Amino acid sequence: MRFADIYGHNDVKQRLRELADSGRIPHALLLEGPAGAGKFALARAFAQYIHCTDRTPDGDSCGKCPACRQHEAFNHIDTVYSFPVVKKSGKPTLSDDYADIFRDFMGEYPYMDFDRWLVALDNINAQPMIYVEEGNELLRRLTYMARQSRFKVVLLWLPERLKEETANKLLKLVEEPFGDTIFLMVSNNSRAILPTIYSRTQRITVRRYTDAEVAAVLENRGIDPSAARDAALIAQGNVNEALKLAGVSEERLRYFQLFVDLMRKAYGRKVAELRQWSLDVAALGREPSMQFIDYCARLVRESFLMHLNDPRLLTLNDAERAFTVKFFPFINEKNVIDMVALFDDARRDIAGNANAKIVFFDLAVRVIMLIRRK
Ligand SMILES: [Zn+2]
Repeated sequence: MRFADIYGHNDVKQRLRELADSGRIPHALLLEGPAGAGKFALARAFAQYIHCTDRTPDGDSCGKCPACRQHEAFNHIDTVYSFPVVKKSGKPTLSDDYADIFRDFMGEYPYMDFDRWLVALDNINAQPMIYVEEGNELLRRLTYMARQSRFKVVLLWLPERLKEETANKLLKLVEEPFGDTIFLMVSNNSRAILPTIYSRTQRITVRRYTDAEVAAVLENRGIDPSAARDAALIAQGNVNEALKLAGVSEERLRYFQLFVDLMRKAYGRKVAELRQWSLDVAALGREPSMQFIDYCARLVRESFLMHLNDPRLLTLNDAERAFTVKFFPFINEKNVIDMVALFDDARRDIAGNANAKIVFFDLAVRVIMLIRRK
């Protein structure tokens, strides 16, 4: 994540840059402000800027050096992510137990939608916390962690969810840090942070986005300008809320892009690219790939319904409609039944734990044969 990847917040970026450039980075820095304003993205960009070995003249990380590449892949050696999780029965519960899930979550929801985090934890009623075992683990890792760069950085998401005993463990670290350790904390509700921790942080307030900024963020994500504006008017500066309101969950957008890829590549008979496509879809994981199949079947049906020319039948958003208006002639009476059956078969195979890479490649090859049938 580079500063340039984050919309607006130029004042905050400038302050962070100055802290890093002056070499006087506080040992405990808190970014506080409302949810859905991009605070965690700013913290990630700051960590990357700190570690980058080839900063650009305009004050950003380069995005290319080994440190930047590690950051982009969420595996920078001197960076630790700490975040609230749910207890696993009978086991010490560490953030690291959820590392893969968190990595996917950050990638998909850079605005850190807490509701989505609950979904990712597979428990929408949970009250995830940062447990004492995590405090011990941080102490251990910061003591023994190998080091590549001058600063070790702990990116701590939601310090308001630190258990009191965890906070007590961390207090020593925050108070008299050993080595060059930086705690970057990001809070949606800093009044709920334990005062012992809060009082020891330096603070930067990240203001909520204006409606125009929220709309711009949505547009950059491929959402139609008018839908983006409408959503922004209700979302009160919260990008996550706006995304939900725009009716284009980021998942839906991703599925849409994958669907468009499939149809374009199948029409162009690009077999090698479709092989890569099937790997990408398989990498979504089992549940999401079944959702994706349902999504494809729905778009195929909707495309067919477009022949009937009745807009009331359609449940498409703007991006989907723009594509379908051109695409619908390719779905016709000769192929619609077989096409839908393809997706049904694929769904059954995935549900039955078949090898997803093979299932999706097979599906893609069959789409090649069906798409030109008229
Ligand atoms: Zn770099």
